[in-house]
Amino acid sequence: MTQKERYSFVLNWFGQHAPDAETELIYDNPYQLLVSVILSAQCTDKRVNLTTPAIFEKYPSPQALSKASFGELFPYIRSISYPNNKTKHLIGMAKMLVEQFNGEVPLTVEALMQLPGVGRKTANVITSVIDQQPNMAVDTHVFRVAGRIGLTRNAKTPLAAEKQLIKNIPTGLIHKAHHWLILHGRYICVARKPKCNECGLRPVCKYYQQNIARAESVKKLKRVKIKAESKELEKSGYIPPCGGARLLR
Ligand code: SF4
Repeated sequence: MTQKERYSFVLNWFGQHAPDAETELIYDNPYQLLVSVILSAQCTDKRVNLTTPAIFEKYPSPQALSKASFGELFPYIRSISYPNNKTKHLIGMAKMLVEQFNGEVPLTVEALMQLPGVGRKTANVITSVIDQQPNMAVDTHVFRVAGRIGLTRNAKTPLAAEKQLIKNIPTGLIHKAHHWLILHGRYICVARKPKCNECGLRPVCKYYQQNIARAESVKKLKRVKIKAESKELEKSGYIPPCGGARLLR
């Protein structure tokens, strides 16, 4: 199978089975999405969604958040991973939005990456979700799933994976493919034990072919061999000792 065929199968499959995939973060505007994405680093979307309503109520705009003190904001973020850093980042981000971007979330990766707490992955998420720009945010799920399926080859870093994915996915589908891979990694192709039996990507998945399918065919071969040997013994009139019945099954 060529790489082109693999991509084509995967994108068609997702297009048919998850046409409406989107972020699971709950937000009403770019400012809220930016706050949510910063909070979501090393944290689940579920927990972020539990936390943000109170933050958005108290700080409905970058202007409001820029005036918050560390001590005021911290209690809202306490239950999220890395609360100290995230509290500092959110206040710094809001200040910079007000002072340098007129209170608006900029929609270029370069401008976003100037904001405290915003790296390449976050900037890619914001620009692809808000503006459908063809930017691929590679988080741990995207990195793992793309590698397992074989969409990426020997990618050692998220940036290397991002480049390979961008090169091979049609521009108009890149923003959607990001959600497809994330959600697949979150619910099916999970880190410890991928649920391959529930996965429609088995026919093209390298991990499945190399690990699961091969192991199953070895098992099958062994079973066939044992049966054949048992029949031979039966024909020869051999009576198995106690426990031999198991061998004949
Ligand atoms: S077949 Fe298994 S390893 Fe491959 S994408 Fe599906 S769940 Fe992941």
